[in-house]
Amino acid sequence: MQENLNLVERDKKHLWHPLTQHKIASDALAIAKAKGVWLFDENGNEYIDGISSWYTCVYGHCNTFIIARVTAQMKNLDQVVFSGFTHKPAVELSEALITILPEGQQKMFFNDNGSTATEIGIKMALQYHHNLGNDRKVMLAFEEGFHGDTFGAMSVSGLSVYNGAFQDHFIAVKRIAVPKGENNKEVLEQLKQLIKENNIAGFIYEPLVQGAAAMKMHDAEGLNEILKLCKENDIVCVADEVMTGFGKTGRYFASDYIETKPDIVCMSKALTAGLLPMGLTSCTQKIYDAFYSEDIAKGLFHGHTYSANPLACAAALAGVELLRSKEMQSNIKRIEKLHKAFSDKIKDHPKVTNIRHLGIIFAFDLNVKMERYGNLRNQLFQYFMENGVYLRPLGNTIYITAPFITSEKEMQKIYEVIEGVFDRF
Ligand SMILES: *Cc1c(COP(=O)(O)O)cnc(C)c1O
Repeated sequence: MQENLNLVERDKKHLWHPLTQHKIASDALAIAKAKGVWLFDENGNEYIDGISSWYTCVYGHCNTFIIARVTAQMKNLDQVVFSGFTHKPAVELSEALITILPEGQQKMFFNDNGSTATEIGIKMALQYHHNLGNDRKVMLAFEEGFHGDTFGAMSVSGLSVYNGAFQDHFIAVKRIAVPKGENNKEVLEQLKQLIKENNIAGFIYEPLVQGAAAMKMHDAEGLNEILKLCKENDIVCVADEVMTGFGKTGRYFASDYIETKPDIVCMSKALTAGLLPMGLTSCTQKIYDAFYSEDIAKGLFHGHTYSANPLACAAALAGVELLRSKEMQSNIKRIEKLHKAFSDKIKDHPKVTNIRHLGIIFAFDLNVKMERYGNLRNQLFQYFMENGVYLRPLGNTIYITAPFITSEKEMQKIYEVIEGVFDRF
């Protein structure tokens, strides 16, 4: 070990960071500690985690309730194979999730992260039809959707500007535009045509909010019409709730706002409250039944070594308990109200367009001449960090997804720093 070098220098020797072009990226910042909504760097600077570390730690960092539950679990059963064995944390988690999942969800398949959760959703949809003897091999997805970075997930993601090296290996996908209200009819017509011309197996969608597409929001009624049409044609509806799940939209799941319920739900991120990595793909009895057979080949032969890791299950179970508590629900309502007030305050500002919010998710596009800035996104990021708020703008979109436990004072600090943007840019 080279103790004489600081962490950043040592990092550069062996580490390769996600979503980073190292030749042009600035140095990584070493975070030493986190508590509640706060991140602390090596040098003692503090930052409000305005994006809940990619929408994970919604109950706050290093939450003592969750830590206690995971610690107790750790002393009792750390890890065991989930093929042939079961355990209490997994069983209890499945029972707890059933009480909050959209109506109709019945069976749960454990995996490791958001990409594997959607990958399995896609595999379930394709194999459902395969097992029924249907020749359906095409997936349907939204333009600009994002579902993860493994091959199936990449295939259905529309935001694939950097996926050039892999495109020849993708599964077949057809795309439709998101329903925005005024275009609902067109989208439905487009979908009818696609259904006629293709053997579509499943439709994967981020319900109501497309996170990676810069928190774009769409029309619940339009989405409902799309789902209804899919269901009429036995197209398996796969809701990717990896970002939207667990209270972020103000309901347990974004699908709760939509009358037509999904056949499959993909979960990760806040599932484990930001403590441990885990994904989960749930489905209805109808989907499960298509795999239930004397024929071993009709089973879902997918398995990850750490499936249903007891520690991750314990974290998730503690998270669900917190989410269902009165206190957490009123935290969510408080942030919703603050967002509404902030939205009313800035919505007519000439530098603000496309302002939108749902639950604890808040976003708007900064109306400035992008050409004036070498890299607007990086300059905004720098400005936020210098002012003690960790936000990750996407292009000219500024968004907030702070933890549910963010206090009014802490929210006001985020809003103030955002308002500072209007004078500087
Ligand atoms: C983050 C995300 C994923 C991918 O999850 P990872 O855990 O990063 O693999 C998939 N879908 C959506 C909607 C996401 O936001």
